[in-house]
Amino acid sequence: MNLSLRFKRTVFALWLALVPLSLYLVYHYFPPPAYIEWPNFIGFVTLAIITAIFPFVINGVPLFLIQWVHLAIFLKYGLFVELIVFQIVLIPFSYRAKLPRSEFYRIPWNSIMFFIVSFISGVFFILIGGKFGSLSIWHIVIFGILYLIINTLVNHVLLKFSLIVMKKRTPFLTKDDYWDYLSMLFTFPMGLSLYLLLEYVGSVSFILLGAPFLVVAQILRMYSTSETANHYLSMTAHFGHQLADHLTSDEVVDLFMKKTIEIMPVDHAYIINICEDNLQFHRAHTNGTDTTLELSHGNILKSPIQKIVDTEQTIVYSQQTEWISMGLGFLPVATQSIVMMPISRNQKMVAILLLASNKKKFFEEYQIQILDLLCSYFAVSVERSRYMEATLNKSERCGLTGLYNYRYFEEQLTKKMQSLLDGEIRQLSLIMLDIDHFKGINDTYGHQSGNIILCDFARLLEDAVGDHGVLARYGGEEFVILLPNMSKGEAFNLAEEIRMEVQQSSFGIESDLGVERKKEFVSITTSVGVSTAPEDCDKPISLLRNADRALYVGAKQKGRNRVAEYVK
Ligand code: GH3
Ligand code: MG
Ligand code: MG
Repeated sequence: MNLSLRFKRTVFALWLALVPLSLYLVYHYFPPPAYIEWPNFIGFVTLAIITAIFPFVINGVPLFLIQWVHLAIFLKYGLFVELIVFQIVLIPFSYRAKLPRSEFYRIPWNSIMFFIVSFISGVFFILIGGKFGSLSIWHIVIFGILYLIINTLVNHVLLKFSLIVMKKRTPFLTKDDYWDYLSMLFTFPMGLSLYLLLEYVGSVSFILLGAPFLVVAQILRMYSTSETANHYLSMTAHFGHQLADHLTSDEVVDLFMKKTIEIMPVDHAYIINICEDNLQFHRAHTNGTDTTLELSHGNILKSPIQKIVDTEQTIVYSQQTEWISMGLGFLPVATQSIVMMPISRNQKMVAILLLASNKKKFFEEYQIQILDLLCSYFAVSVERSRYMEATLNKSERCGLTGLYNYRYFEEQLTKKMQSLLDGEIRQLSLIMLDIDHFKGINDTYGHQSGNIILCDFARLLEDAVGDHGVLARYGGEEFVILLPNMSKGEAFNLAEEIRMEVQQSSFGIESDLGVERKKEFVSITTSVGVSTAPEDCDKPISLLRNADRALYVGAKQKGRNRVAEYVK
């Protein structure tokens, strides 16, 4: 939600203009009783604060049942005292809500809302003839319930109005609203009991009713925490399954970032990689967008991240004052809570996860445990995907030269030929090269030297092809290049350039056939065949055969060290 600074300032100004003056007017027109027992007043304030900061938590949603205290104070002391108590309660209530600085305007806003709710329901009570301090049961029951209904109704309407102003529209009657009305079944008898018990038994009533209220709130909270933890756990398990479907390590990292932010709605998330003892930011996500963060290894180490590197222990901060002077200046200014957690694989730390929230005390203990689980899933998945990538790479590449192998090449050839037939590319050329008299090289300098030449030859081809096409080792000393969108003429020129380059190069070897190894330079030549689709053919296998034919008939048979193009 993005509310302008002007709006926020207006709220503060409105509070200043409205609340103090209105309080004065209420004091004047609806004065409090001449005598107030201070222990009771303090008891009310304490109970109201406890009720506000220990709400009933049901399914992770807090339910503030503060109205029972409202009712009892109101019935006993009237409108003014009730208003004052609830303006006081607002302070611990706001603190408990962990409002970030940018949302401080909510304090005066809530204060105005509380004021209006109390005022309207209070004045309504007085106008219909309600009396404070009455001991007539029927009077208290009838006027009390009417007061509570109006109080809840006005609160409901104002809440919807607030949401509209804050651009968070919801339906007029949500499940939470039903709960508010239903909760009167609890708040009314509780409020009434407090009021009456206080009249007949005295201040001990605060303990008699406050203690069971607190105990029930605590039991519900514990129950809800385990419910919420279960919910988190099932989301985490789902995430684990999803990770299993992702192959590349990049995909795994992306999914981890996305899901972690989804499961823990933090404002900022970072992954810091540890690569050969060097720390660097690998991913950064702040305020809903992916960003990059350039920070040197040395500067990263000037922060508490150094401590994680040393101890491999998680660090949690609840608010800015705990870390502000510690070299974490790269975090956005509004940041408050931070958790930094090592990500380890095979007992070795490989990365650090840093999550941050603009709210104070954001991370609960069970969330840290869930994060720990997420990080282990992540570490295992990255390991698995790296392994898969390596296996895939192995199955696609030639072990000697590192070039793609024939199998990969054939797949690409079929794909590109389909692209040609689908009209996605205009032409497809294929160059086939065979080193001349390579058997003689092996015989003269040894097989090992032959291998070195094959590798150097492969590097020369790589430089020549660049990203224009797919280069592969076709067989022994035969190589192929697939060139999408290259005409026969262009392919011929490229082949000719390569042939010349090979002819002019000398390949360094260490001959291993003699008694001692000696460094020598060898010259080789290559024969090349070129064919192009669609002019020569429209089948993948034919394109290969045509290039092969051009190579043997047009180049080898004509004396080698030449380029020949296929002719029908
Ligand atoms: P041509 O000019 O007719 O192509 O003569 P050539 O000797 O190159 O042709 P041939 O097909 O008779 O011999 C190919 C040689 O390439 C045979 C083999 O020893 C060698 N060869 C094939 N694979 C490898 C390899 O992986 N390493 C080494 N060192 N030699 C290889
Ligand atoms: Mg050969
Ligand atoms: Mg050959």
